[in-house]
Amino acid sequence: MLITYQAKLLEKIEIAPEIYLLKFTYPENSDWTYNAGQYMIFHLPVEEKGHPARRLYSIASSPLNKEHLDFIIELIPNGLGSTYVKNIQIGDIATLQGPAGLFTFKPSERESIFLATGTGIAPIYSIISTLLNNNSGKDKKLHLFWGMKYAKDLYIMDELQKLAEGHPNFRFTVCLSREEGEIDELTCIKGRVTHGLEQLTTQDARSILQYDYYICGGPVVVESLRKFLEEKQIPRDQIHFEKFT
Ligand SMILES: Cc1cc2nc3c(=O)[nH]c(=O)nc-3n(C[C@H](O)[C@H](O)[C@H](O)COP(=O)(O)OP(=O)(O)OC[C@H]3O[C@@H](n4cnc5c(N)ncnc54)[C@H](O)[C@@H]3O)c2cc1C
Repeated sequence: MLITYQAKLLEKIEIAPEIYLLKFTYPENSDWTYNAGQYMIFHLPVEEKGHPARRLYSIASSPLNKEHLDFIIELIPNGLGSTYVKNIQIGDIATLQGPAGLFTFKPSERESIFLATGTGIAPIYSIISTLLNNNSGKDKKLHLFWGMKYAKDLYIMDELQKLAEGHPNFRFTVCLSREEGEIDELTCIKGRVTHGLEQLTTQDARSILQYDYYICGGPVVVESLRKFLEEKQIPRDQIHFEKFT
């Protein structure tokens, strides 16, 4: 059910350079919920080209948790939404509208591979944590490849590690495309997301065709990953994606 509500900012933490975790109050309407992977529309208190400015941010928390709504937001220099996020203080009220979006889990017999880059991890973390903590999806095999540039920029690693420890059916690999220093080899590899994906499909000796794919991140990377999968002959109905435009 799409609603517009006044959300109070409960917590604001810089979890990595220029990356903020924001926790807002949950809508009071007890019927309101969302599907993991959906986003909220932030009404910004400024105009853009003569219209009220809006920005979309994916919900990073799970709908199983009805205490607060969490967002993981990257600040872009001088961006309208970024400036708003930079300035908002604990206790401030934001106008949020939602939920919206179709980037949600599509039940299937196949195992799932999640390909996230940057803050594209937000809706994917919501989907994965919901599936693992929900009876219907708790045995489903899930593989996450998270593309980042450098180890110093990582966040929510403890949360991912905890999920992996509690759920042997979930594995994750962080793919560091520009890192040249030491890495934690238990969780990270050097290289792009496609490198991690190729390692998995080689190790498991199974066809890349046997999975459902969920891709999220910036538009250029999402498009290149989508093309990569299509060139491997993966049917389009097995590829789901969200572009952070
Ligand atoms: C469905 C959806 C969900 C989204 N969820 C999230 C989320 O969970 N977390 C999140 O951080 N973002 C998310 N975004 C992106 C977000 O909505 C904004 O577009 C983004 O944060 C930039 O907004 P801004 O107002 O700060 O910058 P703008 O004022 O829109 O842009 C300022 C300038 O920066 C450029 N720019 C925009 N993005 C980038 C970039 N990544 N790198 C460099 N330059 C850029 C623009 O072209 C423009 O010139 C989502 C987008 C969509 C469509």
